[in-house]
Amino acid sequence: MKETIKAFKEGFQSDHFKTKVLYASKAFQTVAMLKLIQSYGLGLDVVSGGEIYTALKAEFPVETIYFHGNNKTPAELRYAIENGIIHFVVDNRMEVELLSILSQEYDKKLHVMIRLNVGIEAHTHEYIVTAHVDSKFGMLYESENCQQAIQIVQTSDHLVLEGFHAHIGSQIFEMTAWLAEIDKLVGYLKEFDEELSLNLGGGFGIRYTESDRPLPIEETVKELVRYTEEALQKQGVTIQQLMIEPGRSMVGEAGTTLYTVGFIKQTPHKKYYFVDGGMTDNIRPALYQATYRCDLATKLTAAKTEKVTVAGKMCESGDVVIQETFLPPAEPGDILAVYATGAYGYSMSSNYNRALTPAVVFVNGDTSRLVVRRQEYADLLRGEVL
Ligand SMILES: *Cc1c(COP(=O)(O)O)cnc(C)c1O
Repeated sequence: MKETIKAFKEGFQSDHFKTKVLYASKAFQTVAMLKLIQSYGLGLDVVSGGEIYTALKAEFPVETIYFHGNNKTPAELRYAIENGIIHFVVDNRMEVELLSILSQEYDKKLHVMIRLNVGIEAHTHEYIVTAHVDSKFGMLYESENCQQAIQIVQTSDHLVLEGFHAHIGSQIFEMTAWLAEIDKLVGYLKEFDEELSLNLGGGFGIRYTESDRPLPIEETVKELVRYTEEALQKQGVTIQQLMIEPGRSMVGEAGTTLYTVGFIKQTPHKKYYFVDGGMTDNIRPALYQATYRCDLATKLTAAKTEKVTVAGKMCESGDVVIQETFLPPAEPGDILAVYATGAYGYSMSSNYNRALTPAVVFVNGDTSRLVVRRQEYADLLRGEVL
């Protein structure tokens, strides 16, 4: 995580405008993680009251927090404003109307980034596409919805138009979509007298399996800056600040999930290794057929002679960790390490089947630190009215 943060920070710099890397904290949000992010001076994306609450508990500087989401509730907006959050990435006209009323009521200057649907899709899987024209996220720039939203911001005494935001996909493995996005966003700026900011979103790909070929982070963000400088010059506009907001790439490859192998079962066409977790700690394979690499940590040097399916212990046929992989012959008690589970694993975990969420441990060289304790049965009844 530290190496990745440094690569983003060092690559994403310009002599022509300010730059800021925001961590999209939904990928893995805990107090310990936010403290690490904060220690490198990065900003933060949050998408809910709960994420704001965690950020406040981590004493994250509120002036670098950007509040995202397509349906922030009035209570969440109030909670954000009351706690000093000033940056809002707005999704639709109704949100801008409400924000305008609240900014007046609280007499606070609020900075508004308009989330645009730039109609560019950079995707590896249908379910994680966010940029088709009927997407639930953002507005088409030319739409009435968007033009009215901009007008409301510009005529409000308390709202300040900070700029435009777009997020064009996940697991992006090539530059071209980003470059097209930059051209689009920079093009919109020509209509404005004031110097605005741009946020290019996240989506930097990581390596889950051998077939994934992620772009090197530092070179990629350098190229995003260089291309933006060039596009600005061509169009004759300037910006205040350029932002990106990586989530997955910041934490994904740093995470390894350790399971214990339990029963082993042969069916007519498959051999199953069952593990003591599954969709409750990593729903991605069930949700969108995500793929992973793994090893038997207790038999690292043994030949991988068995073609197996690694399945979880939850009551769903779709509860599979890895559909097909080669591993050494295993026995109950072997430790199975699944790689690159740092993003959208813990943060999407659930207590389905009353499974307990596993512990999270930060490892640095040969030292380690428990940052989330393993759940215990009593945690399951928290909130129940007995
Ligand atoms: C989820 C999300 C991100 C982070 O995406 P990654 O693929 O994890 O880098 C960034 N911006 C927005 C608006 C998002 O919804």
